[in-house]
Amino acid sequence: MSQWVYGFGDGRAEGRAEMRNLLGGKGANLAEMSNLGLPVPPGFTITTEVCTYYYANGKTYPAELEDQVAKAFAIIEKAVGARFGDAKNPLLVSVRSGARVSMPGMMDTVLNLGLNDETAAGLAAQSGDPRFTYDSYRRFIQMYGNVVLGVDHHHFEELLELHKEDRGVTLDTELGAEDWKALVGAYKAKVEEERGEPFPQDPMVQLWGAISAVFGSWHTPRAVTYRRLHRIPEDWGTAVNVQAMVFGNMGDDCATGVAFTRNPSTGEDEFYGEFLVNAQGEDVVAGIRTPQHLTVKGKTANRSTLPAMEEVMPGVFAELERVREKLEAHYRDMQDIEFTVQKGKLWMLQTRSGKRTAAAALRIAVDMEQKKLIDRRQAVARIDPASLDQLLHPMLDPKAKRNVIARGLPASPGAAAGRAVFSADEAEDRAAKGETVILVRVETSPEDIHGMHAAAGILTTRGGMTSHAAVVARGMGRPCVAGAGDLRIDAKARTMKVRDVVVRDGEMITIDGGTGEVILGEVPTIQPEMSGDFATLMGWADEIRRLGIRANADTPTDARTARRFGAEGIGLCRTEHMFFDGDRIIAMREMIIAENTAGRRAALDKILPMQREDFIELFRIMKGLPVTIRLLDPPLHEFLPHTTAEMEEVAKAAGVDLDTVRHRAAMLKEQNPMLGHRGCRLGISYPEISEMQARAIFEAAAAVQKETGETVEPEVMVPLIAVPREFDILKELIDRVAGEVKAATGVEVSYLVGTMIELPRAVLCAAEIAKTAEFFSYGTNDLTQTTYGLSRDDAASFLQTYERRGILAQDPFISIDVEGVGELVRIGTERGRSTRPDIKLGICGEHGGDPASVRFCHEVGLDYVSCSPYRVPIARLAAAQAALAEAETQAEPSQV
Ligand code: PEP
Ligand code: MG
Repeated sequence: MSQWVYGFGDGRAEGRAEMRNLLGGKGANLAEMSNLGLPVPPGFTITTEVCTYYYANGKTYPAELEDQVAKAFAIIEKAVGARFGDAKNPLLVSVRSGARVSMPGMMDTVLNLGLNDETAAGLAAQSGDPRFTYDSYRRFIQMYGNVVLGVDHHHFEELLELHKEDRGVTLDTELGAEDWKALVGAYKAKVEEERGEPFPQDPMVQLWGAISAVFGSWHTPRAVTYRRLHRIPEDWGTAVNVQAMVFGNMGDDCATGVAFTRNPSTGEDEFYGEFLVNAQGEDVVAGIRTPQHLTVKGKTANRSTLPAMEEVMPGVFAELERVREKLEAHYRDMQDIEFTVQKGKLWMLQTRSGKRTAAAALRIAVDMEQKKLIDRRQAVARIDPASLDQLLHPMLDPKAKRNVIARGLPASPGAAAGRAVFSADEAEDRAAKGETVILVRVETSPEDIHGMHAAAGILTTRGGMTSHAAVVARGMGRPCVAGAGDLRIDAKARTMKVRDVVVRDGEMITIDGGTGEVILGEVPTIQPEMSGDFATLMGWADEIRRLGIRANADTPTDARTARRFGAEGIGLCRTEHMFFDGDRIIAMREMIIAENTAGRRAALDKILPMQREDFIELFRIMKGLPVTIRLLDPPLHEFLPHTTAEMEEVAKAAGVDLDTVRHRAAMLKEQNPMLGHRGCRLGISYPEISEMQARAIFEAAAAVQKETGETVEPEVMVPLIAVPREFDILKELIDRVAGEVKAATGVEVSYLVGTMIELPRAVLCAAEIAKTAEFFSYGTNDLTQTTYGLSRDDAASFLQTYERRGILAQDPFISIDVEGVGELVRIGTERGRSTRPDIKLGICGEHGGDPASVRFCHEVGLDYVSCSPYRVPIARLAAAQAALAEAETQAEPSQV
């Protein structure tokens, strides 16, 4: 017989933390905390397998389930000393979802289940506190009504507001037992009106209704969207946790709270949390009341005027401190916990690995390594490479003027400027049009996730450091300022106001998630540095990785950034990018529209010195590291003069008339420029272009070598080869120019000549090409384009549909398509090595900075990846993790 139900609580449990797949994250950790001897209210977990069964069998349950639930219930009843549905001494339970990975806010919770008219009367008598009882009952009707019966919250909220108006009060705390009792009646009537049947009074009906609702919520659109965004498989399912209620709302010796065992923004080893006295369940995260801090330090740092738990409940705080130490030592990671205090007794309701900023993740990993809780390899394995992006973005320039209009909490670091928008839909619409936006909300909820994704930053006026906005923004790596209480939002008018300043929809604002500042207008930013824990951890990653990491850099600024972030050379310098600005584009256009070799040479003579200077600068910055320079690969259409003014400019520079320019531009126009006269084809047609570039490269190398005494290592790269002969022709030309420069300067420069592999034909002919090519660099942008027959420039418009429908798991221009394009990389590598075993192999398409693609490159055995300078640290870490993953699979061959 299958076990569908696992009990926990009372110092023991049937489950363990490792059983997360079966019990879900919450259930597995409740079991683990019970095993650790922590105070966990007794309960049981219905496994994720039941969810799978439920959907596979027309929403029915396994036959044994009811029996197993009844047995588990009996154990809780015994532990608590109360009975479910008992009129005098009723047991109340909470019902919560719990998937394998936490899905914040996606699945719903029902508290106080088991209350009905009879048990409420019993509880009121037994507790001697009818106010608490009927407050709990009305909360239950609202939660159950909403989650299970689909009655919208606003119905209940309206009834509450009306009642308060009638009674002439403004706060919930001013209402007494009779008020709540009256509201219970009104709520029940509302449910009946909306649903056409009375609110269920039978606790068992309530229980199974709630269980079905949890399983049902696995398929709400919100949950489906969340899974799609986070790539969580549909078939994982959720578990259901049923647990004896403990109450944080029974008086002033009760409380409920959430905490992190370390500071989730900075990673500092300090207890960090918030609580509310006399409150229940979701009140803290909902951001409706302003919570109090746990510690005096936290209170002071956040300029709170409310007393800390350390001050008002010192005994409970001391116990919570002990729990914190125990959990950190056991899990060896920062935990995010939830707790309730009932009449001075602490109860633990949840622990899980806490979401943190990238800076905090680094601090925690380095600190735990130093405290010998984990080793360097574990520290490196723990950091999500993509999250480093947060630390690599510009910060606000401290010297810039800031017109600070409000201050909130520094909820998620980083700075962002953008247009203020007041709804998630608008954020998404405007971002799709290419605008940068800041989403401004009173508070956020799971319905806002798509807008939060689309926004560059998030600003809320209500809620604390653990509010939905703060937690989700940190997870997404978006800068966030939360709880900027001075701002007044008028969602209808789409404005926000503070004193006499009004910010309208679409106006520029800047937020600094590191300081909590809200600033009017756009503030300039400065480049980040890599130091401290970041540098330490990257050093460990470098010890572990095998792949080399280079950068795609075309300008001195790019090259300097690349060096600062630890690039070990330039893997792609796109020389056409050197000709986009100023006078250069005119010379370039002059060269392109020239009708004959003489005209082209005249233009090239103007370009040569500029090009040589560019290379000198790059070689100086890279100080002897390899620099791969690619011969011109211009999509010609990007360079052709379009407007009459541009044509006149070119005509003047070339000394020809306007009609000649117009005629040449028309002749050069291609139907399909991506498949046209680009790449090496240009050098084959006009060898003088390649000659000029080779000369600029070798003269620059000779000059820098002479100047610095250090060797310079140029690697000359030929783009878009399809036929081996194309490569051979250009290689002969390059070697000839190298010889000429050597003869003229007397400087011997050691260099390589290689090719990009960007076309399936080049892959298939790799053995032949490698006879003369000294290196290959996979240009996976073009290789993806030509393998799929999918235009790089046009695919974005429909690829999203493909992803949504599951036709493609992800955009193949972002993460390498392992089965198709990846297979070509494998074939090219094998064939290239068959004729030149020591051929140098790299990749320089955009995939070089994508962690999954980096892992693939490691597995295939490439020598290096080259990516944009800002992604160099991400690639370094991803390469180290690829090496760790390989070591792990080798250690456990049975799991391959
Ligand atoms: C490529 O095709 O992958 C590449 C790096 O070249 P480009 O993006 O310049 O075409
Ligand atoms: Mg290319």
